[in-house]
Amino acid sequence: MLDLTPKELSERSALRVNPAKTCQPVGAMYAALGVHKCMPHSHGSQGCCSFHRMYLTRHFKEPAIAASSSFTEGSSVFGGGSNVKTAVKNIFDMYNPDIIAIHTTCLSETIGDDLNAFIQDMDIPEGKIVVHTNTPSYVGSHITGFGNMISGFIKHLAKSSKQSNGKLNILPGFVNPGDMREMKKLADFMGASYIMLPDTSGVLDAPMTGSYEMYPKGGTKIEDIVSMGDSELTLALGELTCEAPANELKRKCGVPYSAMPLPIGIEATDAYVMALSHFTKNEVPYEIEEERGQLVDTMLDGHPYFHNKSVAIYGDPDTVLGITALVLEMGMIPKYVITGTPGETFVKKANELFEKAGVIGCKAKAAGDLFELHQWIKNDSVDLLIGGTHGKHIARAEDIPLIRAGFPIIDRYVHSYMPIVGYKGAMRLVELILTALMDRQDRDCKEEDMEMVM
Ligand code: SF4
Repeated sequence: MLDLTPKELSERSALRVNPAKTCQPVGAMYAALGVHKCMPHSHGSQGCCSFHRMYLTRHFKEPAIAASSSFTEGSSVFGGGSNVKTAVKNIFDMYNPDIIAIHTTCLSETIGDDLNAFIQDMDIPEGKIVVHTNTPSYVGSHITGFGNMISGFIKHLAKSSKQSNGKLNILPGFVNPGDMREMKKLADFMGASYIMLPDTSGVLDAPMTGSYEMYPKGGTKIEDIVSMGDSELTLALGELTCEAPANELKRKCGVPYSAMPLPIGIEATDAYVMALSHFTKNEVPYEIEEERGQLVDTMLDGHPYFHNKSVAIYGDPDTVLGITALVLEMGMIPKYVITGTPGETFVKKANELFEKAGVIGCKAKAAGDLFELHQWIKNDSVDLLIGGTHGKHIARAEDIPLIRAGFPIIDRYVHSYMPIVGYKGAMRLVELILTALMDRQDRDCKEEDMEMVM
């Protein structure tokens, strides 16, 4: 019998119930979709690949293309080398991408498949490219896989010619195409010349044209990824997501980087704009000042409704930290913040935000789950929930309004086109929060009126 203390017995250490994360390959697949004419390839069983594609498709409401090594019992025992070699040949023959980005799954990692050796041994057509990354899903989360795939592109492709291209690399973090557009808009306003990797705008928010395009216009071009090694600086937006790939580029090509929070809320967006200004040596134009001023105006207008309201925020680490910073700027109390992605840096950064704002009694947890969040809320409730779709059960059970923000959102539309980053994105979040709280107040008033009539 295990000798466990009552405290250890009451704590779940190995089991997650409704985790606020998904598996590594989902992030790797998303990153690969942000490269122009790239076919993501899942090295493992077909079930994993179908699940990952389904997950992305349900969030973005767009077809997420990917191929699979389609492991059978034989490949599970003897290795998936012949499967992936056949797959790569078929993919180039049938779907004609410029590049195939392979990521692994739990099964291929467990049996120890050596993707590097398999790729060396492949017949890759002239002018075509195959890159890979390792994404064992029993480590980290989709955020880890997203970062690993970006590192994979950098490792295989980025080169330093020792001549500056005068550009800025922007690693946008695990955000929606709408967010990437907003980050690019601010960079354009500031007159920056940049390379964004990955860039899913124009891919997972491509317009309806009446005909299916397997490779839409968007995505980072391969030559731009190669050129990233000649850039002058990398901005890693989302320190917990993008610092590792930025560091990979620094190690390989000597490009310095600055790791920053996702530009959600006033202070983080200011930091992004100032970093752009510092890089370009350009003054901040009136268009940006105007947007910032409008955001401050809306926050002041709505302040009586959200001041001191408590909120629980869950989801991906950098997104949760960004939304936490925004709600603190609004005068709200982020009572509970959790991410399913492991890593105590998240907790440290959340506690720094609480301390800076002078709020007390707030709790942060990494590698947490929504079951635990629900227990916290049952013991001491909140006024509002902010996070993805999987928190709707808490919202229903406890009758708390839920603002859908982050990933995944599978029961709403349009969200992936709308930014939550930048001043415009913050304004959108302020509107959503205000509407939810005012709707709730209206409902409560109506119920009180009914009681008085009766
Ligand atoms: S087996 Fe691993 S990679 Fe496949 S779906 Fe499950 S967790 Fe994800």
